[in-house]
Amino acid sequence: MSARKAYDQTFELLEKHHQWFRESIPLIASENIPSPAVREAIISDFGNRYAEGWPGERVYAGCVYIDQVELLCIDLMKKLFKAEFVDVRPISGVVANLVVYTAFTEPGDTMMALSIPCGGHITTGKKELGGTAGAVRGLVVEYLPLDYEELNIDVDKAKERIEKLKTEGRPPKLVMFGASVFPFPHPVKELADTIHSVGGTVGYDAAHVAGLIAGGVFQDPLREGADVVSLSTHKTFFGPQHGGVVSWEKHADKIKRATFPGMVSNHHLHAVAGLAVACAEMLEFGEKYTRQIVKNAKALGQALHERGFKVLAEHKGFTESHVILIDITQYGDGGTIEEQLEKANIIINRNLLPWDIKEGRHFMHPGGIRMGVSEITRLGMKESDMTEIAEFVKRVIVDKEDVNTVKRDVAEFRKQFQKVQFCFENATEAYKYIKIR
Ligand SMILES: *Cc1c(COP(=O)(O)O)cnc(C)c1O
Repeated sequence: MSARKAYDQTFELLEKHHQWFRESIPLIASENIPSPAVREAIISDFGNRYAEGWPGERVYAGCVYIDQVELLCIDLMKKLFKAEFVDVRPISGVVANLVVYTAFTEPGDTMMALSIPCGGHITTGKKELGGTAGAVRGLVVEYLPLDYEELNIDVDKAKERIEKLKTEGRPPKLVMFGASVFPFPHPVKELADTIHSVGGTVGYDAAHVAGLIAGGVFQDPLREGADVVSLSTHKTFFGPQHGGVVSWEKHADKIKRATFPGMVSNHHLHAVAGLAVACAEMLEFGEKYTRQIVKNAKALGQALHERGFKVLAEHKGFTESHVILIDITQYGDGGTIEEQLEKANIIINRNLLPWDIKEGRHFMHPGGIRMGVSEITRLGMKESDMTEIAEFVKRVIVDKEDVNTVKRDVAEFRKQFQKVQFCFENATEAYKYIKIR
């Protein structure tokens, strides 16, 4: 392919992607759509600059305005998370977790977190699995026990495990709460004293729920005993793709040092600017936005349940966050279902169920699917729209209707939701492809 052809083709593919998402129902729990204001900030010249270090103590010139924006961003984040200290330089949730590991542990230390089938993330994974904590930081990962019925950490068993590790002479230096399937607030308050009593740090990975925490609808880890909270800024938090660490003043120095020179050189200044904008939107609209997220997630769980789907944690109203987990084994495996739904322009992801590995299933063909409602909530959808979505899902999976018919109806349904809500300005459509070349 000639250079020019490849160049043109790249743009053609980008435009096709935009058109596709304009006509689809995006239900990936880790995704969201930023406002046009955030998109404007992230294509600014900030993206071409360097500003190593802390505002006011940079290693480069040219940072006059960059410093002011970063300080603004820090200030807004402090308000949102009621935090004494915030570092907005980690460029993603993975990097934020690495900052936490570097600041609070040494290689060889024991860390506890949920396993991947139980909702944990690759960043908290064991060395044998290539997980960041084990393979990159050299931590020895032990699992927090999950109660399968409650879809939450089992407090008594967790206490036992922590005590046992202490008896074995390897008490956890760090316990990371948080997960990628995170329907219910974790028992931080219930376990913080036990963790502190063995000399451990209470960490909280808020990658998924940062927006819900900022909006005040989930839990407040810092008040419940967490020493440090890591974030992604683009899941329930509707900012640009970036990360952050939130903590107490007494931990500021070691976190700063772990971030720079430890983990970042350039910290993606355009994303920091986008994050400042998103923080302002969150301060103004966050409570309404996150309340609607929880209502929508519960409504989607209920609507799917009424159509015969096995949505987990029915006795607890399915979820108290943005995410629901569905055991799909009566209709096939998560991988195949994911593919079928994608053909109808319903974008979800296959997901391991806590007991999948024991039952011989694996990540490519797990027993579950996961759905999140952050993006569709940002597009203005409400509870009644969740019923429509559940019906589309049923038509594909249960009724086995022709996917092209469903796809057409999905596109028609989506026409009413083309603008981002919960923001100061939305002159441009959510998925409009912006051409400036
Ligand atoms: C998504 C996620 C991360 C990583 O965040 P990125 O911003 O994608 O790097 C970390 N922890 C958990 C629990 C996550 O779900």
